[in-house]
Amino acid sequence: MLKAFRYRLNPTKAQEAVLNEQLWLCRQLYNSALQERRDAYKKARKTITGYDQMKYLTEIKEALPEYKGIYSQVLQDVLKRLDKSFQRFFSRIKVGRTPGYPRFQGRDRYDSLCYPQSGFSVSDKTAFFSKIGNIRIRLHRPLEGKIKTATIRRDCGEWYVSYVCEVEAQPLPVTGNSVGVDVGTTWFAITSDGEFVENPRHFQNSMKKLRVAQRSVSRKKNKRSNRRRKAVQHVAKLHRKVSRQRLDFHHKTAGKLIKENDLIAHEDLNVGGMGRGNLARSIHDVGWSQFFSLLSQKAECAARSIVRVDPRYTSQGCNPCGYVSKANRLSQSRFVCQQCGHTENADVNAARNILGRAVPSGINVAVVNASVA
Ligand SMILES: [Zn+2]
Repeated sequence: MLKAFRYRLNPTKAQEAVLNEQLWLCRQLYNSALQERRDAYKKARKTITGYDQMKYLTEIKEALPEYKGIYSQVLQDVLKRLDKSFQRFFSRIKVGRTPGYPRFQGRDRYDSLCYPQSGFSVSDKTAFFSKIGNIRIRLHRPLEGKIKTATIRRDCGEWYVSYVCEVEAQPLPVTGNSVGVDVGTTWFAITSDGEFVENPRHFQNSMKKLRVAQRSVSRKKNKRSNRRRKAVQHVAKLHRKVSRQRLDFHHKTAGKLIKENDLIAHEDLNVGGMGRGNLARSIHDVGWSQFFSLLSQKAECAARSIVRVDPRYTSQGCNPCGYVSKANRLSQSRFVCQQCGHTENADVNAARNILGRAVPSGINVAVVNASVA
């Protein structure tokens, strides 16, 4: 299985200039290749593929020698990325979703160089990249397995590298527990065992600061002013902080669930999301999908099972008797079954229904009894 390891890079001023230059050239290549595909289709109804375009890379290097300074597979990867975004575009058309044509990449949007196979190596203190050189690296945790790809990324003026490695799965001991997890807007998650997982306080504080900073940007109307530029930078840094805190929290929460349970059931975000939810839910969706994808990576690594269930009516159905009604839900948190009188926290009831959809009822009942006792 694949696992990513991310480290901070400390390039010299000269190396940073080379990296920025290469990002700029790759972005130009991306945008020109996109333009070419657009034009070919508009004028001649002809579809050019990424592989067609790759054949011209040698020619491009002859005409524009600055491209000789970039590792050839990095350039190929630029065209592959564009090809992927076209494939996503076509597949969205096929299933009848809003397509969203591949976009031109602005100055700040193109910020990574990928070495997909070779041309890189790493030792204790340095990371080597062909055509760039040895960059100082801080290996804060050991690399494991066999490195497949290396991606250099620029993030608010800092540089990072991610190595994707092929690692062996490390199964965890069997626990005999299964759990259902409901994600919410008041609580980050609620389990069928009656555990309430709160968004961490420091994360909430950063979110608050971020909102204040965003307002400060929107007050500064002059797009070119120095003060606005600084405010925009401040927002970008806070964004980075918030997303790191969120990632860290997701890692810990997912890790704990994986450690304590053999099977974890959660709602399938692709099913019935709109029917069940409201705007607040859809805003949270982004965070949840990161959490669920971490959960499934960890599950694969530890040989645990993840079951995604259809979430519809899990918040209205009574867990013990199965009676489904809107009236069962007296308030955001209070659930009282109109048929059997079962009273429970509404989110815990929903989490139990999620677990119930994932496993045969026998196990479900056992779990419910265990938490009542
Ligand atoms: Zn009932």
